[in-house]
Amino acid sequence: MASLRFFGGVGEIGGNKILLEDGDVRVWFDFGQSFAMGCDYFTGWLRPRSQNGLGDYFEFNLLPKLRGLYAEPLLATTALRYEEPHYDAVFLSHAHFDHAHHIGFLDPSIPIWCGSGTKLFLEAAEETSGYTDYCDHEYRTFRTGDSVEIGPLKVEPVHVDHSIPGSYGFIIHTSKGAVVYTGDFRAHGPKHEMTNEFLGAALNSKPAALVTEGTRMLDRERRRNLSEAQVLAGVKAVIEEADREGKAVFYTHNGRDTDRFMTFYTAAETCERGMVVTPRTAYLLRKLVEDEHLDLPDPMKDDRISVFFRRKRSGEYQESDYYIWERPFLEKMMKALEEMAMAEAEALCGQSGEG
Ligand SMILES: [Zn+2]
Repeated sequence: MASLRFFGGVGEIGGNKILLEDGDVRVWFDFGQSFAMGCDYFTGWLRPRSQNGLGDYFEFNLLPKLRGLYAEPLLATTALRYEEPHYDAVFLSHAHFDHAHHIGFLDPSIPIWCGSGTKLFLEAAEETSGYTDYCDHEYRTFRTGDSVEIGPLKVEPVHVDHSIPGSYGFIIHTSKGAVVYTGDFRAHGPKHEMTNEFLGAALNSKPAALVTEGTRMLDRERRRNLSEAQVLAGVKAVIEEADREGKAVFYTHNGRDTDRFMTFYTAAETCERGMVVTPRTAYLLRKLVEDEHLDLPDPMKDDRISVFFRRKRSGEYQESDYYIWERPFLEKMMKALEEMAMAEAEALCGQSGEG
């Protein structure tokens, strides 16, 4: 008997925690944090205490109290006894917070299946945030065309276009027919053909059940969906206007949306401008260069990209004031500053020689 149970993501945006059971096999699809989690009790810096493990989360019913699911040390402050995992795997559709963030609570012996891009995003978040810990799970990565067998279940991941690379939908073959889980997807993005491929494969599977989000499911769409090409045209128009007045241009975007980053990068390139990114964006780009399927610039090698560093206590750019992961970019910027200073000094010498 195959069944689906939902422990999040119903009547709310995000927080998807979908449990698929078929015979003795139990598999989760996504294990995210909902955007509204705990908003009745917590605000600003007031959060569930990390040193209390799962205690505060259980007290306020922010996570399901299920046996054989969570990491042993996190249960120490709760009434739930630790048991060996009752679950076989977690499949992540993509690395957005509302689909993946709560995997940090799970028993590390439950393997996590995800796209290789998702794994890079999770690693970057852990390495740069200081407080995100996704636990030492065994990660197993897949690509479109793979088929993963977990007992009687056969899971086919198929890529979709979304505002973060490495996003997938799933076609899951169960004893009761196919179940399709779409994850998040979009049809107006630069790689919309990936979404179409997934929809085609989903249709061919003649699904017995379809699981999808209803966030933007409307009779009439009122919001404007701009394509990346339209955003690019708008950004270029803003830069050209600023060029006429000799002004800087400030921009912002979701740090994980690399399509949007590339729109700004392309606009900067076309308008022959440099661009400044935060150390965290630089770190993520450096990490994603590892994925040969993503064509992103390497901030260590690309002269167009500078990395912004705030001066710390000393008033100088002292290496010890910055996190270890930030330092390689700081070195690059210091070298560029030295070269600029030398070029300026040479130019001054040249002028005084002529005089
Ligand atoms: Zn998403």
